[in-house]
Amino acid sequence: MRNSIKIALLAAVCLVGVGGFWGYQELRPRSTAAYNDMRSVAPKGPTDLTVRYLGTASLSFDDGETAIMEDGFFSRPGVFSVVASKIPPNEQRINEGLQKADIHRLAAIFVAHSHYDHAMDTGNVALKTGAVVLGSQSTKYVVEGAGLPASRVRLIKDGSVFQFGRFKITVFETPHSPHPAFPGIIDRVITPPAKAEEYKLGQNYSFLIEHGARRILVIGSGNYIPGKFKGVKADVVFLGVSMAGRQGDAFVKNLWHESVELTGAKLVIPVHWDDFFQKFGDPLNALPAKLDDFDKTMKVLVPLAKRDGVTLRIPTAYTPIDLDQR
Ligand SMILES: [Zn+2]
Repeated sequence: MRNSIKIALLAAVCLVGVGGFWGYQELRPRSTAAYNDMRSVAPKGPTDLTVRYLGTASLSFDDGETAIMEDGFFSRPGVFSVVASKIPPNEQRINEGLQKADIHRLAAIFVAHSHYDHAMDTGNVALKTGAVVLGSQSTKYVVEGAGLPASRVRLIKDGSVFQFGRFKITVFETPHSPHPAFPGIIDRVITPPAKAEEYKLGQNYSFLIEHGARRILVIGSGNYIPGKFKGVKADVVFLGVSMAGRQGDAFVKNLWHESVELTGAKLVIPVHWDDFFQKFGDPLNALPAKLDDFDKTMKVLVPLAKRDGVTLRIPTAYTPIDLDQR
């Protein structure tokens, strides 16, 4: 009897151990070393437009006279803080991120939606750089909570067009990736630190950035409305693929069709697959298996890119992206 209790206890401990290990594996960031030969390269010489990837859907665009940014999320708090506590913008990481991206002044920050991994730092970044913020009413409540005056916010809607220096920004309302966390709108100013769930989605937007002859489509959250980009031409697509690996192959194929085939883009850079519970920097790791399956997404994207003669590149942290790489 005693022995059988011991064996049962031992078995229980082993099971908990294996389960714990499995759970831990599922929450670990995933290496993307398999895609090292697909890393984007920097321009070889001087360029008319410097574009940098800053993690999640955050990007900067700088032509030497005017600089603009998408989202501007740098804090990237750890998963346990996000789940268990209120999360404050991390000033040190924001300052470090802006410095590494060589950003001092910004004319505008355009925001995909008001989840914390897009909008939580936007107000702080705007205050540091002089930017106005383009976003939904929900995003307005978030940046006002950071202390940005309402006069520095421009509410956007489908079809809105803005000009900043030589940049023209056209707004497209597009859906968030399927089954979003924290749906709904924000109906009051969010004063940080706040819980992740207080950063409700609001509306989601994609943006076409035109600069000289360049046309860059930024899809911050991976989803589509059939035919939305019909007649819209783009050379480069920054394609949000957050959670796409969990939606099945057909979803990823449709996302490609709607974003890349319809626009005729020749360079596609998947974004928002990175593990944003980790500090941003190289090597970029993908989200843990528990949350997404970036390998599954890439298994669909790689053959599609080959079929269509499209260059598919994985961004490198902070390094300027050669927009003409083929
Ligand atoms: Zn989101």
